[in-house]
Amino acid sequence: MEEKRLYNKVTDDVVKKLVAICGEKYVTTSEPLRHSYMARGIMGLEAVLPEAIIRPANADEVSRVLVMANEHLIPVTPAAGGLSGGFALPAIEPGGIYMDMTRMNGLEVDVENRVMVVEPGLKSGDAWRIFKTKYPEWAPPIPDGAPPAATVLGDAIERGFSLVTGVYGPQADMIMGLEVVLPTGDVLRTGSWAVPGAKPFYRWGPGPNPDGLFLGSQGSMGIITKAAIKMVPHPHFKTVVAYGGESFEDIVKPTWEVSKHELGIADRCVMVQGGNWQLVLTRWPKTNVPLDYEFYKKMGMSEYWMNYEIWAWSQEELDFTLKKIDEIYKAYEVKANTKCPQQYLHPKQIASRLKKPNKIAIPYALWEAGFLFITWYCPWLESANMMEQYCAKMEEYGFPPTMWVASIDHGRQAIVMPIVCFDSTKPGIYDKIREFNLETTKSFLKQGWLNYRPDPFVHAPETFSLAKDYYKMLVKFRKVLDPNLILHPGRLAIPWEAVTKLPNPCGEPKASESKVSKPTKPQVKK
Ligand SMILES: Cc1cc2nc3c(=O)[nH]c(=O)nc-3n(C[C@H](O)[C@H](O)[C@H](O)COP(=O)(O)OP(=O)(O)OC[C@H]3O[C@@H](n4cnc5c(N)ncnc54)[C@H](O)[C@@H]3O)c2cc1C
Repeated sequence: MEEKRLYNKVTDDVVKKLVAICGEKYVTTSEPLRHSYMARGIMGLEAVLPEAIIRPANADEVSRVLVMANEHLIPVTPAAGGLSGGFALPAIEPGGIYMDMTRMNGLEVDVENRVMVVEPGLKSGDAWRIFKTKYPEWAPPIPDGAPPAATVLGDAIERGFSLVTGVYGPQADMIMGLEVVLPTGDVLRTGSWAVPGAKPFYRWGPGPNPDGLFLGSQGSMGIITKAAIKMVPHPHFKTVVAYGGESFEDIVKPTWEVSKHELGIADRCVMVQGGNWQLVLTRWPKTNVPLDYEFYKKMGMSEYWMNYEIWAWSQEELDFTLKKIDEIYKAYEVKANTKCPQQYLHPKQIASRLKKPNKIAIPYALWEAGFLFITWYCPWLESANMMEQYCAKMEEYGFPPTMWVASIDHGRQAIVMPIVCFDSTKPGIYDKIREFNLETTKSFLKQGWLNYRPDPFVHAPETFSLAKDYYKMLVKFRKVLDPNLILHPGRLAIPWEAVTKLPNPCGEPKASESKVSKPTKPQVKK
């Protein structure tokens, strides 16, 4: 059995040192404030209170804090908006220093090279507002449905889905260069940015590019203080069109046909997303809405549907795209002997979908107060099967089978997301969610599908116990970058001993056997 790693507590002496680095105004140990940070993480089922909150102003302060945290063996967790859905919420056991990055909220826009440089605190709502007023011909790739306080960089770190994800792929694909403060306090720039004076115009830079170690690491490999991100053209002939279907297959297959038209109509379908009728139902309080599909059927709503958000340079181009999509659906109806009627969308529905950030995913808390997004990637054509399996399991566990799906990069991948709505006051509900999550995770991994915001207790160990060699390599990288394992310990279970006393399913060598992981200080818990 691995030993759980011990860290030191944040002492008065440490707080003094934090104040000396960041200034008194930007350091707090106030209990109500620490709780307020936890309250932001609306889906952080496994979050714990940090011991101190700091708000650094720049990369130099970030670096000095990390050097000090190494000396005292204190965990540090970076957080931007703190709104990551699923399980990537900043701060899990053992607490430590919560580094709120929101003071660093700079934005530089380079229209010529079509790149923007963002700091971690730049909120999606602010980025959208600034572009709308100053650069209306361009759009920042913000997360489509996230709250306006979620950040552009947080979404890239998470490899999330932006408002143009149907064309450009996951948000991390938009990165052109990173500035990272490594856990030891050293500062690294990636891509062409690695060369002093060079612009961030070439992502792959002078040699092997380490970006992938930081994107998807949930803040456990380094603290990103700047990112160069592609901005996208923003044509203003827009609409949303939706088609129904009688099964998940009926929404996935015709979308695949549309998506294959790259260099053509598929490039105008910036966001392609759909799901089942429960997506509408569970956005309302359970007690205030009809629970039977018949009610929604009478309103003309299909049980399943797919939305296409289309951006075009002219009305003619928009009409052409709509016509082609319609033809593809008509051909599919004949071929599959099914019905995929175009869905009536009220102009207000279209306007609210086109509004950014659209806040569309926020009301799921209304159903029964608790909700959780669990997100998976799979090849597009396999997503219907995955959604069917997910719905069956959700019903078996007593959750409404609310299912959402979106196309990533012209339907190369699907992002599949059950929205688990639950009564957070019910005894044992969190164990039930974990059981549901574990059962589906084990089954989906066997089918070759991947969770994209892995939690450290279910997704990460289950995935890594299958991908053992990959995991071992990640642990080696982690120990090189962060020899004292101070950064967001426990996240992604790299290494295992940082998070739990449970047996390590990956059989990773003990820290004491590792050449690079010896801490510089004795591990004394005060
Ligand atoms: C209702 C709702 C709807 C959502 N809809 C969408 C959506 O449409 N599309 C989408 O992609 N996502 C969506 N999300 C998820 C999430 O809000 C976004 O991915 C968001 O942009 C994350 O940004 P954040 O600022 O909240 O990140 P945070 O939660 O602060 O951070 C994300 C992760 O990165 C780490 N981190 C933070 N800052 C740094 C840093 N500077 N360096 C290194 N690591 C760091 C954190 O420790 C954490 O693990 C939604 C969430 C909610 C609650």
